[in-house]
Amino acid sequence: MKILIVGSGGREHALAWKIAQSPKVEKIYCAPGNAGIAEYAECVDITAMEFDKLAAFAKEKEIDLTVIGMDDPLVGGIVDVFEAQGLRVFGPRKNAAILEGSKAFSKDLMKKYDIPTAAYENFDDPEKALAYLEHADFPIVLKADGLALGKGVLICNTLEEAKDGVKSIMLDKKFGSAGNQMVIEEFMTGREVSVLSFVDGKTIRIMTSAQDHKRALDGDQGLNTGGMGTFSPSPFYTEEVDAFCRKYIYQKTVDAMAAEGREFKGIIFFGLMLTPKGPKVLEYNARFGDPEAQVVLPRMKNDIIDVFEACVDGTLDQIELEFEDNAAVCVVLASDGYPVKYDKGLEIRGLENFKDKEGYYVFHAGTKFKDGKIVTNGGRVLGVVATGDDLKKARANAYEAVKLVDFDNKYCRSDIGKAIDEA
Ligand code: ATP
Repeated sequence: MKILIVGSGGREHALAWKIAQSPKVEKIYCAPGNAGIAEYAECVDITAMEFDKLAAFAKEKEIDLTVIGMDDPLVGGIVDVFEAQGLRVFGPRKNAAILEGSKAFSKDLMKKYDIPTAAYENFDDPEKALAYLEHADFPIVLKADGLALGKGVLICNTLEEAKDGVKSIMLDKKFGSAGNQMVIEEFMTGREVSVLSFVDGKTIRIMTSAQDHKRALDGDQGLNTGGMGTFSPSPFYTEEVDAFCRKYIYQKTVDAMAAEGREFKGIIFFGLMLTPKGPKVLEYNARFGDPEAQVVLPRMKNDIIDVFEACVDGTLDQIELEFEDNAAVCVVLASDGYPVKYDKGLEIRGLENFKDKEGYYVFHAGTKFKDGKIVTNGGRVLGVVATGDDLKKARANAYEAVKLVDFDNKYCRSDIGKAIDEA
């Protein structure tokens, strides 16, 4: 088979690596890709939002299946464009990707179908939002409705902060049109767990759990980022939690989307908070997480092409997912100053140290080729991943892996997976 992957980050590198292991696959292309993905795929100079160009490329190269890694093209309707041209593609259509694309939609869906989530109100009028805050309890959570690179969520401790937040989201349009509507939500406490799943419209198959670290600095301090590291499985995702979520969250979400005429095929990523009152949905994403994919995919035993095809064909009920009985930890190596200001174009040394080193992986996020060398090309540069028999061993191995590779201004958190010690 010939496969096209759309995207360019560490998640897409992990996908390319996993897809390359399928004996069914003879050739992989990736648009636009990066220097690490180039090891498995021919990188094509088309960006993820150029739907017509991508579809024309898929036709010309007789691509058998296109896999969309990123949220923006899914929410923008890339799957509809491909399907209209008779091309096979893995991911939700635009009317289903709204599960991630609009927080107001997903909150209303959960309310209508009684799926546990924080209490909330939706607003499209800033005056009404400001009036609502006058009688609210604090802290309170403000969320821009649309995609905002994980930055459109403000946790406000006081009325003043919250008023400023409403103004920046809805009036100053800090997150652009993502702030045309907003959700004001009850503040919840508890541990966060990410659970990814494959869905074929009717059937849902749950992958192993993971936990991410969004803040830039140790101790969950500093600014929010795309993600500084992950571990899998989460020791807090117990059998009891799993049973609750299967009963009240996972299948109910798939059935709710189908009942709304928005059949969901692809990945549903459940962002959960384990609150004192039980698990609740923080958010849905319509694609693999980054860097969750980097710890989940190395533990997955199945041929991923079989699973993708079952989702597209509606035969997922015939597939059982299998994961290694081990653990994995990913530490993101960033350019110091990320997520604000950082240098690019710095030479990366030591990547060859990962060659043939079993259980160790280096997935590229922001890298490119320059004058025959691989250099940094973004804030998050690499995700180094190691597996181990258990989480503690995986974490020790991952921090060994950090030492294998180097570039000027290399920065990483030193406490990825520290929560393991509290389990
Ligand atoms: P992502 O980068 O995962 O796509 P996002 O912008 O879609 O993020 P959310 O996941 O909804 O936003 O929220 C981001 C973070 O804000 C959560 O991981 C959580 O830590 C915090 N958060 C969101 N909602 C609440 C809430 N109701 N109570 C407490 N914390 C919350």
